[in-house]
Amino acid sequence: MNEELKIKFWGVRGSYPAPGAETVKYGGNTSCVEINAGGRTIILDAGTGIIPLGRELARRAIQEKRGLNLLLLFSHLHHDHTQGFPFFTPAYFPNTRLHIFGPGGTPETLKHVLEHNQTAETFPLSLRDMSAAKTIESVRESQVIVWDEENVRVVESGSGLSPDAVVIRIHKSHAHPGGVFVYRITWRGRSVVYATDTEGYVGVDRRLAAFARNADVLIHDAQYCEEHYRGQLAGFPSTQGFGHSTAAMACEVAASAATGELVLFHHDPAYADSFVAAQEAAAQKLFPKSRAAHEGMEIKLPLTPIPLSMEGERRMDVKYVKND
Ligand SMILES: [Zn+2]
Ligand SMILES: [Zn+2]
Repeated sequence: MNEELKIKFWGVRGSYPAPGAETVKYGGNTSCVEINAGGRTIILDAGTGIIPLGRELARRAIQEKRGLNLLLLFSHLHHDHTQGFPFFTPAYFPNTRLHIFGPGGTPETLKHVLEHNQTAETFPLSLRDMSAAKTIESVRESQVIVWDEENVRVVESGSGLSPDAVVIRIHKSHAHPGGVFVYRITWRGRSVVYATDTEGYVGVDRRLAAFARNADVLIHDAQYCEEHYRGQLAGFPSTQGFGHSTAAMACEVAASAATGELVLFHHDPAYADSFVAAQEAAAQKLFPKSRAAHEGMEIKLPLTPIPLSMEGERRMDVKYVKND
């Protein structure tokens, strides 16, 4: 048994890929985060970061001589969160089992969108050509995704599960055009909240802060610097209402939710490394345990013997430093 919850960042950029000399430090691939919980691989979003992750998973599968069993969760279906999927190598292996969940108006919506992304006019291979065994389903906020001894399944309630189950809860946010799912992944008392593509509210996004309460790690959108957001950055229009946050908004949520640490995510593609570093420094003044995500960054959360029922009582030591 692997005794830590691992997070690895494969794509941290927002909106569109940003390769080049100016983005080497943080990386240019769009959203993709890998979570490993006791050998179970959960993938958050399929931006272009999923392409190198796919190659790594394929390599592991060949080395270990076994098929892959993977859970892929979409926050929403904007391009920068789906564009890597057609190039996700393990999806073409017949012995891969792929469970795919995300938002949608009907249970079939997610499948229809993925099919539409790979029509003959736009891509040479269709979803059907991806020969992995796939379950593709749009889920609801009230449902819970569970990965336990009985494999991956969707249930209506997260109670009565085995202590080793990976439990994924959903918060449906309206702080992004078209809505977005925020996921909370919990395994043996450790929690990670993935809140990309979300814009802050005046007085903090209360629902999000409640959902993220006491999580060990909060991965939060922090696309814009203050000047950019307000339309005071030369050459850039105001981005108010675009559905993305500033680092200060992310810090407010982290402080209000008393999360263990904050990871700034979904960096603006126009921002050079020095600009993202400045965002990171600004965030650390507001919420000291902040850092900007970069490609290849790993966070390992050792499991503690604390019972699951006490999870909510462990992380109360983080103070919010007010910016004036
Ligand atoms: Zn995005
Ligand atoms: Zn989006």
